[in-house]
Amino acid sequence: QFPFGRRLPCDIYWHGVSFHDNDIFSGQVNKFPGMTEMVRKITLSRAVRTMQDLFPLEYNFYPRSWILPEEFPLFVDEVRMMKDSDPSWKPTFIVKPDGGCQGDGIYLIKDPSDIRLTGSIQSRPAVVQEYICKPLLVDKLKFDIRLYVLLKSLEPLEIYIAKDGLSRFCTEPYQEPTLKNLHQVFMHLTNYSLNIHSGNFIHSDNVNTGSKRTFSSILCRLSSRGADVKKLWSDIISLVIKTIIALTPELKVYYQSDIPAGKPGPTCFQILGFDILLMKNLKPMLLEVNANPSMRIEHEQELSPGVFENVPSPVDEEVKVAVIRDTLRLVDPQKKKRKDVQRHVESCKTTVNVRYNYVLWYRCQTLEEASEAKEEAREAGAGDGGERGGSRSPEAGLPSLCLKQVFPKYARQFSYLRLVDRVAALFIRFLGVKGTTKLGPTGFRTFIRNCKLSNSNFSMASVDILYIDITRRWNSMGIDHKESGMGLQAFVEAFFCLAQKKYKSLPLHKQVASLIDFCEYHLAALDEKRLVCGRG
Ligand code: ADP
Repeated sequence: QFPFGRRLPCDIYWHGVSFHDNDIFSGQVNKFPGMTEMVRKITLSRAVRTMQDLFPLEYNFYPRSWILPEEFPLFVDEVRMMKDSDPSWKPTFIVKPDGGCQGDGIYLIKDPSDIRLTGSIQSRPAVVQEYICKPLLVDKLKFDIRLYVLLKSLEPLEIYIAKDGLSRFCTEPYQEPTLKNLHQVFMHLTNYSLNIHSGNFIHSDNVNTGSKRTFSSILCRLSSRGADVKKLWSDIISLVIKTIIALTPELKVYYQSDIPAGKPGPTCFQILGFDILLMKNLKPMLLEVNANPSMRIEHEQELSPGVFENVPSPVDEEVKVAVIRDTLRLVDPQKKKRKDVQRHVESCKTTVNVRYNYVLWYRCQTLEEASEAKEEAREAGAGDGGERGGSRSPEAGLPSLCLKQVFPKYARQFSYLRLVDRVAALFIRFLGVKGTTKLGPTGFRTFIRNCKLSNSNFSMASVDILYIDITRRWNSMGIDHKESGMGLQAFVEAFFCLAQKKYKSLPLHKQVASLIDFCEYHLAALDEKRLVCGRG
């Protein structure tokens, strides 16, 4: 530990809270720059909303949400309209302060007029969300799932999901919300930090019982009731991948700002905590993503009033130790070195002239610490605890991996969703000076000019107006005052506007895809021209 700053170069840096050390020039860091900001309730809701605008069906795993205070009038209007069109609709909403955690400041309401406007709403931005009234119950109790996800790399995107997670239970039997029970947090909120204070909380040394259990124990129960557990897992995997796809565009903007491409720098990975609620019909719904999930494997027990003791928690230990152990195995720098050598071998194998192929390949082989085949055998045999092929295995004796790769494994099913990623690539190209996250007016004009978007119907004067209008509105929401200019989300809005103007009759995602193709085509042509001129 380096409480006063790091002095030695390391292979792996494990920050406690967030990415903050800009003096790291190599190695692997356990946090992505900007992740904490990205998973705040408002930012996450905005990022998911952008995807919901493009792909409403694919992103229906996130409850309908409004951002307070600026969308309060919209919230009132939309609820009124929905009630008018369906008088039997008796919704409940949950208000969650932005940046809050552990259920802090959360309350339920039946009507938009119940929002506590006095003071807090102005001073504390929040998200108001449709409340999921019919959750799946086990033992008559509401519970949520905490799943651990490793974002191993942003570019290329690599995602792993832990095979087991935690189920955190409420401590009072669930009833659908009524005006009478709205305030009963032990019935409606599954937060461990709240329920631990209930007299009904059960610490169990068994992973199948008590107020915190393994998710696998729930799956076993569901399976014995005849539920389609395979489908549930596949829905959860899809929810996780889609959520990360919603977050990656802005993460890439943060990344290039903190770790500019082309310069030596670290690579990042991060363990995320996904909080998921299962509906009665087993549909998983995303509640939130935690950038700094608790890795505690013990809990506090009050021995006598005011006297606490840390007691091991077998459920936490079972799930969390495996997540940390496997994360370290997956980002193991030695393994990376072996893989790089392997890649070198592969490139030698494919590029050398056939005549010299054998000689060079042999040289590469001698460089190699372990062939991929050996490595695979080692991974496969890791559970047996034996050493394989005579080589000393650093993984010998470790259980098989609990982290399962889901991306790029299932990349093909999801690639069509990665439109905003491509918009972000355009944005980053025109950011200009490295280290910034906002686009200036000149950068925006260059984007329009280089992509050939200005024409007789859309003058450069209207380009400037579009830039000023959108940028001013986003900046007035007070999200980031550190830099002036157009942030990615504002750029995405401007891009959607341009796409709608240019390709009128198509659905939004097709309009956006067409405009991206158009821009990429013109930029590629420009690059080609520059290359030829450069050569000349
Ligand atoms: P926090 O970060 O404060 O824990 P969450 O978004 O996780 O905030 O919400 C706290 C708890 O409230 C969740 O664990 C869940 O039990 C409940 N909850 C949150 N959103 C909803 C929702 N839309 N529908 C039903 N229950 C919800």
